[in-house]
Amino acid sequence: MWPLLTLLALGGGAGLHFWWRGQFRRQQRQLLDEREASRHRQEQSTHQAQARQQILFNSMLEGLLLLDSNHRIDLANRAFKNLFNLKSELHGKTILEALRLHELARLVERVETEGQVFDHELKLPELAGRWLQVNAAVITNAAGKREGTILVFHDLTRIKHLERTREDFVANVSHELRTPLSLIKGYVETLLDGARHNPEVAERFLRIIERNAERLDLLIQDLLTISALESGRVELQRQPVALRALTDKVFADLHSRAEQKRVQLVNELPELAANADINRLDQVLSNLVDNAIKYGRPEGSVRVSGKTTAEGWMEIAVRDDGPGIPAEALDRVFERFYRVDKARSRDQGGTGLGLSIVKHIIHSHGGEVRAESGSGQGAAFFFTLPGADGSGSNQPPQAGLAASQ
Ligand code: ADP
Repeated sequence: MWPLLTLLALGGGAGLHFWWRGQFRRQQRQLLDEREASRHRQEQSTHQAQARQQILFNSMLEGLLLLDSNHRIDLANRAFKNLFNLKSELHGKTILEALRLHELARLVERVETEGQVFDHELKLPELAGRWLQVNAAVITNAAGKREGTILVFHDLTRIKHLERTREDFVANVSHELRTPLSLIKGYVETLLDGARHNPEVAERFLRIIERNAERLDLLIQDLLTISALESGRVELQRQPVALRALTDKVFADLHSRAEQKRVQLVNELPELAANADINRLDQVLSNLVDNAIKYGRPEGSVRVSGKTTAEGWMEIAVRDDGPGIPAEALDRVFERFYRVDKARSRDQGGTGLGLSIVKHIIHSHGGEVRAESGSGQGAAFFFTLPGADGSGSNQPPQAGLAASQ
């Protein structure tokens, strides 16, 4: 009996053991599965957070660079890559390996010692003269341990370019004002020193003073016009303008100037009407016809013609038969104070601002302006305006059509 009981007890114990082992294994597997699932969930949420972070960094306008504690690139956003024209993977590289920029590598060392550096300006001549502003700081964790460096890059190129343009403009204006002013001062002093007692000399000197005072006046008027046009303060008073009649009026105003050079003024315009500010358009035509008389051939001719383009724009051309404009200067003549021949322009009382005013006025009407010239074939200026019936005003003018006129 006892052996049987012992056997039963042992069998029961073994069964219990196997049952517990099974239970234990099942519980362990369950625990492992749960751990795996939680690790997976954690991984997924880390990936999602990283993806969100990357989207956020890539949507920034500023370039962003994160370096780890060994000064190796941990993250570079899209704007950073664009600023430095970089296409390759940067992760793990040093600044010198990725960019070969010693100045930036030195900046990172400075940040390391100073903790942060603000408003550091970086010029990149090898990247088309790009200007960047860099703000950088060391990143520390909650325990105060250094974990890396963050650098933010802001593109200053446009601001620098505007600053340069303004500085050049001020320098040009001062120079343009100084020349007639010093002439006036010089002749007045000579007159006061005794030249006034010789009526013939005095008359000659006074004429020079008068001419230079007029030049100053013209210059100031042109400067005020440019400044008003550039500031956007000028509101166009648009109305239907009969172009042929307006050209007749401009010819009448410039008649005596043309006569002095025995230049023939020819109005070839058909009856076209543009939707334009008549006073501003008068200024455009006056500047172009005046230039054609000034720089054209003595005893030559100045012709104004026009047509309607396929898109409904009015296209007007002012041509002369003078020496023309060298090919390399065709675009530049519209810049402020640009002159092909400085002495000639000043001799003719030019301010160097006429074509720049023309360009501003035409652009403010939504039109285009350009110059053409073949060697020795005179100069031709073309500009476009929307038609009086509203045609053309919704589509950009086609500059190419002007050539077929
Ligand atoms: P400016 O007051 O000197 O005439 P503009 O801005 O009107 O200034 O013209 C700029 C320059 O373009 C002139 O100095 C001249 O060199 C050149 N230019 C303008 N119109 C003509 C033309 N019809 N023929 C030749 N050159 C011209």
